[in-house]
Amino acid sequence: MDSTFDYIIVGAGPAGSVVASRLAEDPTSRVLLVEAGKPARGLSVTMPAALSLAYQRRDIQWGYESGPEPHLDGRTIDEKTGKVVGGSSAINAMIFNRGNPMDYDGWAALGLPGWSYAHCLPYFKQMETFEEGADDWRGGEGPMLIGRCRAEHKLFDVFLRSGEQAGIEVAADHNGYRQEGLHIAQAFIHNGLRWNAARGYLRPALERPNLQLLASVFVEKVLVEDGRAVGVAVRDRTGRRVLRCEREVILCAGAFNSPKLLMLSGIGDADQLRGHGIDVVAHVPAIGRNLENHPGVDVQFATRHEDSLTSQIGLVGRGLLGARWLLTRKGLGASNLFEAGAFLRTRDDVAFPNMQYEFLPLTRQLRGGKLVPVPGFQFWMDLSRPESRGTVTLRSADPAQAPAIVFNHLADPRDIRDLIAGVRLAREIARQAPWNPYRGEEISPGKDAVTDADLTEYLKRRTGTSYHPLGTCRMGPGDDAVTDDQGRVKAIAGLRVVDASIMPKNVTGNLNGPILMLAEKVGDRIRGRQPLTPSKADYYRATD
Ligand SMILES: Cc1cc2nc3c(=O)[nH]c(=O)nc-3n(C[C@H](O)[C@H](O)[C@H](O)COP(=O)(O)OP(=O)(O)OC[C@H]3O[C@@H](n4cnc5c(N)ncnc54)[C@H](O)[C@@H]3O)c2cc1C
Repeated sequence: MDSTFDYIIVGAGPAGSVVASRLAEDPTSRVLLVEAGKPARGLSVTMPAALSLAYQRRDIQWGYESGPEPHLDGRTIDEKTGKVVGGSSAINAMIFNRGNPMDYDGWAALGLPGWSYAHCLPYFKQMETFEEGADDWRGGEGPMLIGRCRAEHKLFDVFLRSGEQAGIEVAADHNGYRQEGLHIAQAFIHNGLRWNAARGYLRPALERPNLQLLASVFVEKVLVEDGRAVGVAVRDRTGRRVLRCEREVILCAGAFNSPKLLMLSGIGDADQLRGHGIDVVAHVPAIGRNLENHPGVDVQFATRHEDSLTSQIGLVGRGLLGARWLLTRKGLGASNLFEAGAFLRTRDDVAFPNMQYEFLPLTRQLRGGKLVPVPGFQFWMDLSRPESRGTVTLRSADPAQAPAIVFNHLADPRDIRDLIAGVRLAREIARQAPWNPYRGEEISPGKDAVTDADLTEYLKRRTGTSYHPLGTCRMGPGDDAVTDDQGRVKAIAGLRVVDASIMPKNVTGNLNGPILMLAEKVGDRIRGRQPLTPSKADYYRATD
C-alpha cells in the first residue's frame, strides 16, 4: 500500500462512500478511506425486513447513548450509529426522503446561497436512479437505486383512505413536485436488497487502483502541523501508526464522531480541551454545539391479531418470508415495513410540513426490556424542525471513550406544543370511518391522556429519537459556524468535514438522502468540477 496519499477520508458511511468514489474518479488522485467498522455481512444487513435484527447487532454499532436528557426526566436514549462499512446506512430503516425544498431555501437564507433547493436538486438527481423513471425532479442514472414500497398490507390502504377523509391529499411523489400530504413510501431497496451507500458507491469505486479502503482501523486524531492537517493517527489490532496525506483530511465520521475527532485533535472550545489535558490547536467553541435531531413518539392503537401485520411475522411466518426472500428476493422479506407515511402541518402558520408520520400496521412495545411486535397499528411521528439544540462534548482525552451527547429534546416549549398537536392530528386520522372495522383501544398515549398536561407527561416519558443527529460542525458565514460552504474547517487548512455534522439546519425528512446529496455536491467541488447548473424545476407551496 502507498504510504502517502492525496486525500485521507475518515469514515465509510454514506458521506464517506460518496466522497471517496467521486475523488477516485480522478486517476491521478491517491485516495485512502479509513473505517473503524468491518464490512457489512449477513442477512440482517441485506434483507430489508430484517432491520430489527440489524438494530440489535452490537458488533456493528458504536453503542452510544444520549443523556441524561434534562427535559425527559433524566432518561438516556439509545443512539444507534453504524460502525461498519456503509455506516448507519447499513443498519438504518432505508426510508428515502429528500426533505422539503423550502428546507434548502432556508439554508440559503442563512448565508449559504449555493445551497438553495435549485442548487441542491441537480445533486439529488445525480445521486439516484428512481425505479419510476427520471423527470425534472428525479434522477435516472445515479448509483443509489430507489424503489417504491409495495404497501400490500390492507392497513396501509386504510391509513391512506382515512387521511383523505380527514382532508389530506395523497402526494403522487413526495420527493418530486409536492412533499406535503400522505404517501406510499420510497426506500433504498432494489431487487429485494438493502441498497446502502457502500453497495451503491463504494463497491464499484473500489475496483479503481487509486482508492484503498482500510476497514477495522480506528482514527484517534487528526495531525496538524503549522496550522495544516497532514494526516491521521490510527489504531488497529497491530497497534498505532500514522497515515499522511498531501492535500486534505476529510472527516466523514458522522455528527457524533466528527466533532469528537476535531476535539481530540485540539480543535474546539479551548477551556474544555485544556480541562481534558489536550493541547489547544485552534479555539473553535462552536464545535459540538448546535446538535439537532428529530425527536418523536408513537401513537398506537390495538387491532385484532388477524388484522395486524403481526399475523404474518410469527415464528412460521418469519420462516416462510425468509425462505421466499432467499429464493426469490420477493415478498415481505423485501420490505422495510415502513411503507406509508405523511408530511403534515400541525398549524396554519407554518409554511411547510413540520411533522413526519411513519405508519406501521403493527405496534412495537417494550416487553421484558425488548421491543416486540404486538397486534395493532401505529404512527411514529417526529418533529421535523425542532427548536431545541444539544451538544456533543468529550468525556475525556481517551479516544476510545464515547462522547457525551445531550440532545435537550423538549427544552423549547414550542417543540412540546408541536408534538402535542401532532399526537392530536394522528388521533384525528385514526378516528375516521375507514378505521371503524379495525380500530381497538388506543394503547398510547391512551384514552385518559387528554389535556396538554397529560400529553406533556406522555412526551417526557416516551419521546425518543429518529436517529438523525446533525449540525455539530455546521456550515455558515459567521464565527458561530465551524465550516464554510464547502465543509472546510475555517480554523485549519487542509481539513474538511463532509457529513451530517455540517448541515446548518434540520430538514423535513430522514437524513440519508440529504447527506448523499450534500456529499455529491461537496465531493464534486473537491474534485475540481464546476457546480452543476441550478435547476429550474418548481415546487409546491401551500399557498398554490
Ligand atoms: C437506526 C437508524 C435508522 C435510520 N433510518 C433512516 C432511514 O430510514 N432513512 C434515512 O434516510 N436515514 C435513516 N437514518 C439516518 C441515516 O442513516 C444517517 O443520517 C446517515 O447514515 C448519516 O451519514 P453520515 O455519513 O453522516 O454518518 P454515518 O452513517 O454515521 O457514517 C460515519 C462512518 O464513520 C465511521 N467512523 C466514525 N468515527 C470513526 C473513527 N474515529 N475512525 C474510523 N471510522 C470512523 C463510522 O464507523 C461510520 O461508518 C437512520 C439511522 C439509524 C442509526
